[in-house]
Amino acid sequence: MPKTVHHVVTHRGRKHGDADVQITVADDLATVPGTRMREADVSFYARVYPEETQNIVKAADRRWVWTVYHDEMKMYRQRHDDINEPLVDAAAVSGDLEPTGTPTGEDVTELIRLKAREMGFGEVGFTNMDRRHVYTSKKRWVKYDHAICVALEQDYVQTQTLPGMEAEFAHFGTYEIEGALLLDLADYIRSLGYHAQVHSPNDNSAAYIPMFVAAGLGQLGANGQLLSPHFGSRARIAMITTDAPVSYDEPVDFGLHQFCQECQVCVNRCPGRALVREKVWWRGVEKNKLIYERCRPVMARYDGCAVCMKVCPIQRFGAPAVMEHYVATGQVLGKGTDLLEGYSLMEKGYFGPGQLPQFDRQFFEIPHGRNEDWLVQQFKEKLMNQGMPSQEDALSFVHELHGILDRGNTTIGDE
Ligand code: SF4
Ligand code: SF4
Repeated sequence: MPKTVHHVVTHRGRKHGDADVQITVADDLATVPGTRMREADVSFYARVYPEETQNIVKAADRRWVWTVYHDEMKMYRQRHDDINEPLVDAAAVSGDLEPTGTPTGEDVTELIRLKAREMGFGEVGFTNMDRRHVYTSKKRWVKYDHAICVALEQDYVQTQTLPGMEAEFAHFGTYEIEGALLLDLADYIRSLGYHAQVHSPNDNSAAYIPMFVAAGLGQLGANGQLLSPHFGSRARIAMITTDAPVSYDEPVDFGLHQFCQECQVCVNRCPGRALVREKVWWRGVEKNKLIYERCRPVMARYDGCAVCMKVCPIQRFGAPAVMEHYVATGQVLGKGTDLLEGYSLMEKGYFGPGQLPQFDRQFFEIPHGRNEDWLVQQFKEKLMNQGMPSQEDALSFVHELHGILDRGNTTIGDE
């Protein structure tokens, strides 16, 4: 059944030089620009229960993944981490670098946007650096008030092959390119006479997605990822904050917030049953909440999984085509087809629409929390099962705990 059009969004083209695109939003998909939010609740949770990076609060399972990676993945991840480390280190001190040019005091929004687009960023937007979303351990690190949100598109063809190493090359490779581009973009901002601090995609300083939504670059999907109108969840996101004079963009209703409730493909196809059908109010925002503990074991054992990325029609066909199809037919483009919904899992075989793999209960038993939480938990279980430890075991526990606390209890990696 055709739908009535509620409004049409004009969005910049996918690449620098491309014409603008039009996104038609059906009457029954219109909600609010960005996301439904209760500002007072967002502030309350940020104040009373501030967020912390997964590099710290999920450090135990981030270490554990290395014990289940196959050899090729281990070698590739190690190589990636070696390339990435200097980029993360350079980002960490970038906010302290002094400008190299002389500021004019004029608004430089469009100069920075143009430079970022020329460099290859598909989505570029400006907003307030909302410190409510900054992680506790990074509160003192964040220096400047304006956030430049940038997204680099992950390769289309490689992504459609996931889960598998080919798609992981695209995933981690995009981060490597992005890490270097961000440093160059920050240099450019300094040449204009202003400070620039790079917020690495691999050592996140904050929950970035709310800033991208506020900057009009997409909406949050039911798969927990930013849905860019051009490339859906293939958007690899990062930020630069600055003291340069810039103007903020506005959040946009692309119709995606409500479209997810009609679509539900990622929810239906998730091998770990980690995605949730209904939206809930969480920390002051209306969203579909992902169950981390159901996702992580699948991600770790199946080459990053990301089935929820692959099966998303916005990723596959782009929002303009998907929304046009919805207005014309009332249907979700590609839903129910093998092309969109099919995937293969190593040693388990192919799963078409309506088919899901089975896993036993032990599959989902993984380390939880911070590294020291997990160590203490294991020691406690040993005490309960085996009684008093030997002097050697007790000493080894103390050494390991000391080592973890000494290292700062962080496992840096890709979010
Ligand atoms: S990565 Fe895989 S297991 Fe995790 S939410 Fe996405 S589809 Fe589900
Ligand atoms: S697959 Fe459908 S429900 Fe999931 S994020 Fe994409 S559009 Fe939303």
